[in-house]
Amino acid sequence: MLLPGQSVTAARRKIYPRNSPGRFRSLRNLISLLLQAGLFLLPWLNWGSRQAVLADLPGRKLFLFGLVLHPQDNYFLLLLTVIAVVLISAVSALAGRVWCGFACPQTIFTQAFIAVERFFEGDRAARMRLDRSPWNWPKLRLKGLKWATWTLMGGWLGVTFSGYFIPMRQLASQLLTGHVSLGTGLVVAFFTGIALFDFGYFREQFCQHVCPYARLQGAMLDADSIIVGYDSRRGEPRGKLKASPRGACVDCSMCVQVCPMGIDIREGLQAECIGCTACIDACDDIMDKVKQPHGLIRFTSLNELEGRPTQVARPRTLIYLAALVLLSALFVYLVTHRPALAFDCERVVQPGGQLAALTADGRVSNIFKVHLANQLAEPAVVRLELCNLPAELLGGRTELSLEPGEISEVQLLLVAERGLSRGIHPFQLRARLEDGSTLTSQATFFVP
Ligand code: SF4
Ligand code: SF4
Repeated sequence: MLLPGQSVTAARRKIYPRNSPGRFRSLRNLISLLLQAGLFLLPWLNWGSRQAVLADLPGRKLFLFGLVLHPQDNYFLLLLTVIAVVLISAVSALAGRVWCGFACPQTIFTQAFIAVERFFEGDRAARMRLDRSPWNWPKLRLKGLKWATWTLMGGWLGVTFSGYFIPMRQLASQLLTGHVSLGTGLVVAFFTGIALFDFGYFREQFCQHVCPYARLQGAMLDADSIIVGYDSRRGEPRGKLKASPRGACVDCSMCVQVCPMGIDIREGLQAECIGCTACIDACDDIMDKVKQPHGLIRFTSLNELEGRPTQVARPRTLIYLAALVLLSALFVYLVTHRPALAFDCERVVQPGGQLAALTADGRVSNIFKVHLANQLAEPAVVRLELCNLPAELLGGRTELSLEPGEISEVQLLLVAERGLSRGIHPFQLRARLEDGSTLTSQATFFVP
């Protein structure tokens, strides 16, 4: 996806963001540390006897703390997706791209990779010089050290991402003992490669060409949304320190040099701006030097920049809030009222295409298929009982142990007592759990 004014044939202009310490950078670093701690530690967290968050693709199960979701539970995922979309819309309407600048993994890990680049190759000017210089031993050494460190970081990220799909403890023991299966190796290599490519090379292009959020931004933001903005009424006409007449902007270009997206915030709100606040810190630093108040670039709104008041409570934000509360309440209701067991029973056609058969002693039998899915994150023992039918359970297992999230299927042979009249006889099959709770499935017994 291209932004207005971009061309598919235009060569990429490499961006060398300058270091920009400041109060927003410190806040971003703190949030980044907390989020990374969550991301790296979560795969090690257990819930009951299972990993708390795990997408078991071969088993077609998703473990989310106490929830075990099967393919038939896709409405949960759909609901979670809708909640996430409404949440992002609400946050965007209120606070612009605060997610992109402060919490998006793309921003967080790109910044981490740039920090390593800066450590080995220096700040913006030194990196530009190094890239322009001919290949020699010192350049090779610096680039080699940077890529080696990136590979370690990418590998660690790759293992962590893989740990959301392969049980983390099993993965760690495979890696530590060196007995890595081909499948595991490929998954880890895939995520490592993606991390290296994306955070080491692709960077801002992901936000510009891949992420749909930048394109949706126009629809999500309005003139009251909080954005990172340049106060042109105060800043213009820009000019060097001794120029006159001159606004507050001394045209030092620091806000452009620190921008990881390579844009000039003074040209107004742009789709590429991820709201990272690097330009606020850079400009505040310049304002200190020229003894002017902070805030030439600041968190503001388009209305405020044009001298009008900013309204936080407005129809759009109130609608988002109401939708969020309702959807979250629905989700909590569905989770708390979800049965521990998914259970159903159906009559199957017997060999020879018959719905019923006769036993050796002349009684009528039907065969039933019972599907059971343990929806708990703990093992469950289930006992099957027959209700409201003068018949006995003669074949098949009636007591089953199910692992967390396990789906099982059993066949039962039901033999009716003599004298059961011809026709269809409704009955219930009951599944009783160890704690005494029961679930019932309706079925019919057929006497020809
Ligand atoms: S950092 Fe501030 S003073 Fe410097 S060019 Fe940008 S807006 Fe102007
Ligand atoms: S314009 Fe400022 S807030 Fe936007 S991406 Fe660039 S540095 Fe970050």
